[in-house]
Amino acid sequence: MKNNNGVFYLPDLPYAPNALEPYINEETIMVHHFTLHKKYVDQLNAIMEKNPGYQEYGLVELIQNVEKLPADIRTGVFRNAGGVLNHDYYFDMMRPAPNDLPAGKLGEAINKQFGSFDNFKKDFTTAAMAVFGSGWTWLVADAAGKLYIMNTENQVTPYSFDRIPIIPIDIWEHSFFQQYPAKRADYIEAWYNVADWAKADVLYSAL
Ligand code: MN
Repeated sequence: MKNNNGVFYLPDLPYAPNALEPYINEETIMVHHFTLHKKYVDQLNAIMEKNPGYQEYGLVELIQNVEKLPADIRTGVFRNAGGVLNHDYYFDMMRPAPNDLPAGKLGEAINKQFGSFDNFKKDFTTAAMAVFGSGWTWLVADAAGKLYIMNTENQVTPYSFDRIPIIPIDIWEHSFFQQYPAKRADYIEAWYNVADWAKADVLYSAL
């Protein structure tokens, strides 16, 4: 996220670092949010500080207008702005268990498009298991509100495909390897217990 001075910052977690236990443990959150998420923020600020003139640009604007930036900073901005944006979503869209299944407009849309939450979950898990290397699985929407499950590589965001993020799961090994060594399937199953579907519904309903 970005403050009024044009500087990007690490958002506060909307829960205590140990509040997602036993599904995602405190050590994982400490490293993942306070070290790795913060690193993307610091790296992005370091680049933008040396390249004044883009203070108006938020994360999405930087990602979508990356070709307008000086050639030597494009890759760094694209990767780090994506890293900040993706992690902002990931940590914000979790909550302490127990959670509820998607309700409201999002629940209706999931049932309509996927048949049921269970069917959606099957497809989402299959997509997350299919990520090769480092990446993300997303529930996203288009401008008309149609839902899609999509994967993005590295720190690419759904905005590169004109899709609007609703809720992501981080599939980089740093999100689970400490707690679930080499067990991506267990991590994905655990994540469903802390996915904040109520917040996802608020996002989706505001489209
Ligand atoms: Mn991550």
